[in-house]
Amino acid sequence: MKIHGLQKMTLLDFPGRVACTVFFGGCDMRCPFCHNAELLDGSAPPVMTDDELIMFLQKRQGLLDGVAFTGGEPLLQKDLPELAGRIRELGYPIKLDTNGTHPERLKKMIGDGLVQYVAMDIKNSPDRYAETAGLKTLDLAPIRESISLLLEGTIDYEFRTTAVAELHDDSSFEQIGPWISGAQQYYLQRFTDRTTVPFEGLHAPEETQMRHWADIIRPYVPAVALRGVD
Ligand code: SF4
Repeated sequence: MKIHGLQKMTLLDFPGRVACTVFFGGCDMRCPFCHNAELLDGSAPPVMTDDELIMFLQKRQGLLDGVAFTGGEPLLQKDLPELAGRIRELGYPIKLDTNGTHPERLKKMIGDGLVQYVAMDIKNSPDRYAETAGLKTLDLAPIRESISLLLEGTIDYEFRTTAVAELHDDSSFEQIGPWISGAQQYYLQRFTDRTTVPFEGLHAPEETQMRHWADIIRPYVPAVALRGVD
């Protein structure tokens, strides 16, 4: 497994839980605003083995009550179900971050009880999806399938969009709203610039703009909330 990072404790990644976050290397997208760009090609050496992660979690039993998988795209790791199974045996619920490109793997993880909460990115409206994911072309069928799977409501989940001034406009949210209509929860996350972000020249939208976009979503998803806005 390409475990490329471990945040030993977070109150932010797994709603309602004191969790650790495991970062997996490799991603099939190249979002220009990515905060973990150094993980994307999966070439960095792993920081720990699966066994070392399990030992860490054994020692933290009673202190942590959740494990968050992020990346990169965790579902690219073929041995993820096996590792998740070992973590579940220790009693930890698992949260999975995903870009939605592997609905069949997501479905199996959910069906096998290996994940308890999913946070799926909705990058943009269909017409700007590939551009926002940093790709020339993108087959949206798997993304649509992952959305439909989560909308079935068999598991707790959230959809979320990182809003970037240069990539999103009213039309983005006028199309995202109907696409995820009826969702449990939607977060509109304000882009924050960092030195590690792959593309320069991207900006955070104004706060008023963020609130306006949330208003566009609200008729479709009443539980819409902002992140990165006071
Ligand atoms: S899907 Fe996530 S990890 Fe992959 S490039 Fe985009 S923001 Fe980064």
